[in-house]
Amino acid sequence: MDYNTLKEFLNNNTKRSKIFIIGESVFKRPIYAVKFNFSSKNTVIIQGAIHAREHITTSLICMLIKDTERDFNKLKTMGVPNIIFVPMVNPDGVELCYSGLKSAPKESWKFLKNINGGTDFSLYKANARGVDLNTNFDAKWGTGVENKTKPSNNGFIGNSPMSEPEVKALSLLTSQEKPIFTISYHSKGQEIYYQFFNKAENIKRDGRIAKIIAKSLRYKVVNTEKVSAGGYKDWCVERYSIPSVTIEVGKDSLRHPVQESEISQIYKRNKNIIRLLAKVQKEFEDDRTRKVYERSNKGSKERTFER
Ligand SMILES: [Zn+2]
Repeated sequence: MDYNTLKEFLNNNTKRSKIFIIGESVFKRPIYAVKFNFSSKNTVIIQGAIHAREHITTSLICMLIKDTERDFNKLKTMGVPNIIFVPMVNPDGVELCYSGLKSAPKESWKFLKNINGGTDFSLYKANARGVDLNTNFDAKWGTGVENKTKPSNNGFIGNSPMSEPEVKALSLLTSQEKPIFTISYHSKGQEIYYQFFNKAENIKRDGRIAKIIAKSLRYKVVNTEKVSAGGYKDWCVERYSIPSVTIEVGKDSLRHPVQESEISQIYKRNKNIIRLLAKVQKEFEDDRTRKVYERSNKGSKERTFER
């Protein structure tokens, strides 16, 4: 889904939810978020299209928004946490994929053409400054095996951690909301990642939560801890100990960019994710209760996750 279609979708499909803007892209496009308030004390963040060519994840998130609108009362009764969807973290990159250079201001055409190696932007992953946003977070920044140190259509870590406006916007939202769980939608491979040097005391909980998701989606849990760094999921785990998953949608045999014709297949696997959040929340709460209990028995004053 492209940026204008997203805007139109949000204008027409948000009755029970609130649209707000978390920041702006390099080319000053507003980055939209949609919040469903179920009057829970807990919140979950679900984001997509941080990698430009993975814009199929925006389409998926919009379908999930539609479902959440439709099932609002039922979900509230089930006790699901509040949900903030950020359907397109990287609007400039997505627009480059769809419309090429004409989506960008003229003065950046030469730079973009150069770093992309031509005018076909359909496989572009980065933002408008050639930074791969999912390597720019401050989580073992620059240690990923495929990291690049110069602007590129993929893999460039940026000149410093958190340098990009899109990354600042998403991290500010996260710091303010302190979610109990985050989902990062990517494509492709039908895999789930949750590990990033998780604290010893959290690794079992985070594994259980990943398993809940993987089992329902019938995706495989894979450990990418040693190869990638600087991602949003990595940062959530390292900075705030938030259990977090990356979900790679679409069969691995598909080519990038995963086409819209695949969406019904992808949606089928992912449509239960919203109700699963009630289960995830329970894991989170049970674990916290257990830890508080163990600690009070030991007389320890160590603090658990503070909201
Ligand atoms: Zn990706």
